[in-house]
Amino acid sequence: MNGPGDILRTVGARFGERPALVTATRTLSFAELDGRSDRVAAGLAARGVEPGRPVSLYAQNRWEWVVAYHGALKAGAVVNPVNVMLTPEELAFVLRDCGAAAVFTSAEQAPTVLELTRDLPEPITVVAFGDVEGAVSFDELLGADGPVPEITADPDAPSTIGYTSGTTGHPKGAVQSHRAVLLNCALTATMHGRREDDVVVTALPAPHVYGNVVINGTFLAGGTVVLMERFDAGAALRLIGEHRATLFEGVPAMYAMLLAHPDLAGADLSSLTRCTVGGQTIPVSTIRRWEERSGAPLIELWGMTEVAGLGTTHARHAPPVPGSIGVALPGVQLRIADLDDVTRDAPVGEPGELMVRGPIVMSGYHGNPEATAATIEPDGWLHTGDVATMDATGHVFVVDRLKDMIITGGYNVYPAEVERVLAAHPKVAMVAAGPVPDAVKGELACAYVVPVAGTDPTEDELVAYAGEHLAPYKRPRLVRFVDALPATSTGKIMRRELIKQFTP
Ligand code: ATP
Ligand code: MG
Repeated sequence: MNGPGDILRTVGARFGERPALVTATRTLSFAELDGRSDRVAAGLAARGVEPGRPVSLYAQNRWEWVVAYHGALKAGAVVNPVNVMLTPEELAFVLRDCGAAAVFTSAEQAPTVLELTRDLPEPITVVAFGDVEGAVSFDELLGADGPVPEITADPDAPSTIGYTSGTTGHPKGAVQSHRAVLLNCALTATMHGRREDDVVVTALPAPHVYGNVVINGTFLAGGTVVLMERFDAGAALRLIGEHRATLFEGVPAMYAMLLAHPDLAGADLSSLTRCTVGGQTIPVSTIRRWEERSGAPLIELWGMTEVAGLGTTHARHAPPVPGSIGVALPGVQLRIADLDDVTRDAPVGEPGELMVRGPIVMSGYHGNPEATAATIEPDGWLHTGDVATMDATGHVFVVDRLKDMIITGGYNVYPAEVERVLAAHPKVAMVAAGPVPDAVKGELACAYVVPVAGTDPTEDELVAYAGEHLAPYKRPRLVRFVDALPATSTGKIMRRELIKQFTP
């Protein structure tokens, strides 16, 4: 196997009629996924999509999405999975920027996509998951005659242009090689001990790297993926019981919502053997609560689009190290760089910027050499933008994002520290922290709290509670109560959005 496009051909032959993908509308076996993606590849070739051309995917989690992803790779295309939360203008920018030869989209979104593709300099084939005037229907594409192109992927060539979550600003397109993506799927499968009898329930978006390594890592092992179109805590609890899921995988906010859901008490979680979480800092208290309720270990992982998936995680049977995102994946190098001098390592246990090097690192940001040069050092080390510490055993602990640091009266406060403390309060369902401007201290820490249903916490109570656990300068001075926290399509809390909403 040279790249992710070879996965289905290989495992399809091995696992044939076993269920590979279950969605609300359809269940597909490995053989069906392999066969249908072959037809997509043949259909794209018949429509003149040449190897090396980008093909964009812009849709919610659907079985068609997965088939299109593998079909486009089999056609030799560079797959461009687009975050569904991009606005039509942003999508138009991406399509133009990468010069997509085709775009797959849902029937609902197809009219908008058709409209905006009219202004593109080059013609583009719009494929809709349904019948929409002006678009090629997915069935039509699958029904096309013609041979499946014979493609041997160059491991170093781009397989995908993946977009970052846009948690801190505009999403950036990371060019990921075939080797990087395939290796990351395989390492994810190995680290978590994925097996043929695994059943994974997840609502992670397929276009996101975490979703990708979960889906394709599970396929590699011959396991089944139950893919939700979007996250819904009640539905997730039901699906875990119904499918006797062995894994649930998601971002921290999903676990907070599962733990707060009224159906949790009656849910059957007895089939779970382990769960995974990553994408954002998760308080240890949330991990503990989920592990207690589910009876399954919750394995933390850290990843980013720029490394085509995970960079660290814990091996399935490794002894737990609470609060750690795990160790480097095999073949991946990590170091903690001095915040003032990237050429030097921070002392063991001291915070610095987490740096990654190895075959999983992106080739660069698409069409953005300046951003690439600012992110990848000439000797190959990638700046993650995350502040972390590493202990003597190689376990990494994320402090927070460098960019999100709050500077109050000259002191650095990481919002994650404030969040971790408040998340453990019994009346707090979800919490995010961020800066508010202050005439004297420059910035003050503010906590945005979604209370546990039926409880009525007060600002004084939470400020006092935080004061018991945090140094005086780190204490949030303000608490604002909100109904929900703004999130990306991955389900990551966007602190910046909150700050914008509340700061005049
Ligand atoms: P953008 O780069 O567009 O602002 P993003 O950084 O959220 O968005 P992703 O590539 O999806 O885009 O996420 C990578 C980032 O997610 C990491 O740099 C890190 O900040 C955060 N992250 C991932 N896993 C963890 C984790 N286990 N703990 C803490 N943070 C994590
Ligand atoms: Mg990022």
